[in-house]
Amino acid sequence: MKEKDPAINNSYGCLVIGGGAAGLFFAAGEAMRDDLHISGRKVILEKTPRLGQKILMSGGGSCNITHGGRIKDFIGRYGKNGKLIRTCLYRHSNLELMEMMRSLGVPLTEQSDGRVFPKSMKSSDILNALLSAARQSGWEIRTGCEVTRINEAAPESPLIRVTLSDSSVLTAEKLVIATGGSSYPSTGSDGSFFGVLERDLGLSTVSLKPALAPVYVQDFEYEDLAGVSFTDVSVSCGKHTSRGAALITHRGFSGPAMLHISEYVNAGDEIVINYCPDMDSESMLERVLRDQPRSTAGTGNYISSVTGLPKSFVNKVIDAPERKLSSVSVSELRRIVSRITGFRYSVSGTGGWNDAMVTAGGVSLDQIDLKSMRLKTNAASDIRIIGEALDINGESGGYNLQFAYSSAMTALEK
Ligand SMILES: Cc1cc2nc3c(=O)[nH]c(=O)nc-3n(C[C@H](O)[C@H](O)[C@H](O)COP(=O)(O)OP(=O)(O)OC[C@H]3O[C@@H](n4cnc5c(N)ncnc54)[C@H](O)[C@@H]3O)c2cc1C
Repeated sequence: MKEKDPAINNSYGCLVIGGGAAGLFFAAGEAMRDDLHISGRKVILEKTPRLGQKILMSGGGSCNITHGGRIKDFIGRYGKNGKLIRTCLYRHSNLELMEMMRSLGVPLTEQSDGRVFPKSMKSSDILNALLSAARQSGWEIRTGCEVTRINEAAPESPLIRVTLSDSSVLTAEKLVIATGGSSYPSTGSDGSFFGVLERDLGLSTVSLKPALAPVYVQDFEYEDLAGVSFTDVSVSCGKHTSRGAALITHRGFSGPAMLHISEYVNAGDEIVINYCPDMDSESMLERVLRDQPRSTAGTGNYISSVTGLPKSFVNKVIDAPERKLSSVSVSELRRIVSRITGFRYSVSGTGGWNDAMVTAGGVSLDQIDLKSMRLKTNAASDIRIIGEALDINGESGGYNLQFAYSSAMTALEK
C-alpha cells in the first residue's frame, strides 16, 4: 500500500513562522489591505503557547510602537545598515503604521520626545487589535508549534515543506520567516532558528550580539545612587558616541544613551561620559569662577544648580560638597568641572541576552531582495524573511517595531 503523504490536508497558500511583532503585522496587514489579499489557507505557527510576548513587554508594558519624527530621520537610527532599508521604511512608514493602528481602533499618543504609544498606554491593546484583525481575515493561529526543518517539497518544486517538532509536515506556496533574534529567550526568540536557516537554506548570519543592553562598570562606586536619572548625557567609546537620557543602576548605567552605545562596548573598554553635553569644561569653569568670589553656597549645591545635575549625584562625585564654594581652590574647581564633562569608567561588560532588548546581527542582508524581503538564494520558492531575524537593529524609541511593520508590509506586497 502506498504511504500516505503526511502533508495532506496541511497545505497552505501562506505560512508564517513566528507569531511575534513582524508575523502579526504581516497577518493583520493583509487583513487591512484588499489589494494585498493572499489566496488559499494561511497560518501562523508559533512555538510558545502565547503570541506577541515582546509586544506585551515593549515600552515597559506600554508599547512604544513607533516614533513620530520624519521618516527620513529614521534611516540613521539603524546603524550602518539603515540606508539599505530606506525603500522599505519609506514605502511603509511610521505614518502608515499609525494610520493602521487607528483604523484597528487603537488611538495613539505622541510624547514630547516623539515616542508613540497607544493612548491607553497598554501594549495589550496593540496585540489584541493585531490578533483580531488577523483572525477576522481568516488566519489560522497555531501555538505550541515549533518549526524544526524547511525544505522544498520536491526538487525544483515551488512548494515549501515545513516540519514541526512533532514530525508533522505542512506545505506552503509562500513562506514568511519571522522568528526574531536572540534576546529575552524566554519569549521564544532564542536564536535557535538561525541554525535551521543555515542548515536548511544555506543562509549565513552576521554574528549575533546583545544590543540595547545596560552597561556595567568595574568597581562601580555609585550603586547607592541606583535610580538617579539624567535627562541628557553624551557617552563615547572609541569612535562611537551616543547622546540622550541615562540612568544609574546597581552595576553601572542604563537609559537610552547607554543602551544605544552598548552594542559597540566590550569588557575592558573605557567609556567617557559628559554629564553636561551642552557645556564644555572651559565654559563651565568660566561660569564657576565668575560666581565664586561672592558665592555663599556650598560647593555641591552650587555645582548642582549650575549644571542642573541631581544633587545626590554631585554630592557623591565631589569631595566635601558642603564646603563653601569661595574656599575651593581654582585647580580643584578645574578638576571637578573636568570630571563632570569627562567622567571615565572601565567597562566590565554589558547586559546579556536576558537583559538586551534587541539583537545586533542576524541573517545577512545581501541574501535578501530588500524590495520584497524575498530570499535571493532560493529563487524557485517564495521565501521571505522579516523583522529582527534580519541583520537590522534600531535604537530605542519605537524603531524596532517600526522595522517589524515596514518589513512585514514589504513582504506582503509582491
Ligand atoms: C523588554 C523589551 C522591550 C522592548 N520595547 C520596545 C519598544 O518599546 N519599541 C520597539 O520598537 N521595540 C521594542 N523592543 C524590541 C521589539 O519588541 C522587537 O524588535 C520585535 O518584537 C521584533 O519582532 P519580531 O517579530 O521580528 O520578533 P519577535 O517579536 O521576537 O517574535 C519572534 C517569534 O517567533 C517565534 N519563533 C522563534 N522560533 C520559532 C520556531 N522555530 N517555530 C515557531 N515559532 C518560532 C518566537 O517564539 C517569537 O514569538 C523591545 C524588546 C524587549 C525585549
